[in-house]
Order: sequence, then structure tokens, then C-alpha cells
Amino acid sequence: MADEQKIKIILTGTCFCGNLKYQLHLKSKDDARTSLCHCSSCKKAFGGAFGLTIKVPLEAFRYREGKPTLHMGNNGGPKLYREFCHRCGSYICEYGVRNPP
Ligand SMILES: [Zn+2]
Ligand SMILES: [Zn+2]
Repeated sequence: MADEQKIKIILTGTCFCGNLKYQLHLKSKDDARTSLCHCSSCKKAFGGAFGLTIKVPLEAFRYREGKPTLHMGNNGGPKLYREFCHRCGSYICEYGVRNPP
């Protein structure tokens, strides 16, 4: 597409043990937004009073190495997927069912 923005920021990360390696391909720093979530699902995933997450477009996230363990649940609504490292237990990402276009 002619008006599609180019990827300008590439961030890399791993789980605690290094089994999972991932990258974020962002078009702008505004594509990443820090969020403190107090929903019951985040509290359980993080084992605390809230979850600390970075919200990014789903298509910006990709694994470079390793295969995550998938947990499917819900948050009192549509399905919610969370991915973890099966070796070290690091919680990597969460995403929901996409809204119909
Ligand atoms: Zn790991
Ligand atoms: Zn939450």
C-alpha cells in the first residue's frame, strides 16, 4: 500500500531462560503503550495486584525462536489467549479474539 508506514523500530526480547525469542516491529513509538491492568486474568497471570503490560498491534509481535505454551481462557467475555515459556514459566503475551471487521 502506498500510504503504509514503514517499520521504524525493532525491539527484541526473550523469556527468562532464553528459550523464546521475540521481536516487535513498530511503525512508531506511539504503537507501544504501557498499561497497568487490574482485571482478574492479569492478576492471576502476574500473581499480584495488577498486570504490567505493553500494548502493541498484534501483527507487530513475532517469535524468532521457540514455541510458546498456549493457555486459553476468558475474562468474563470472549476468548483470551496467553502464551508462556514451558521451561521457565515466563509470561510473554496475551491477545483476544479479533473483532469482526
Ligand atoms: Zn523460558
Ligand atoms: Zn487484564
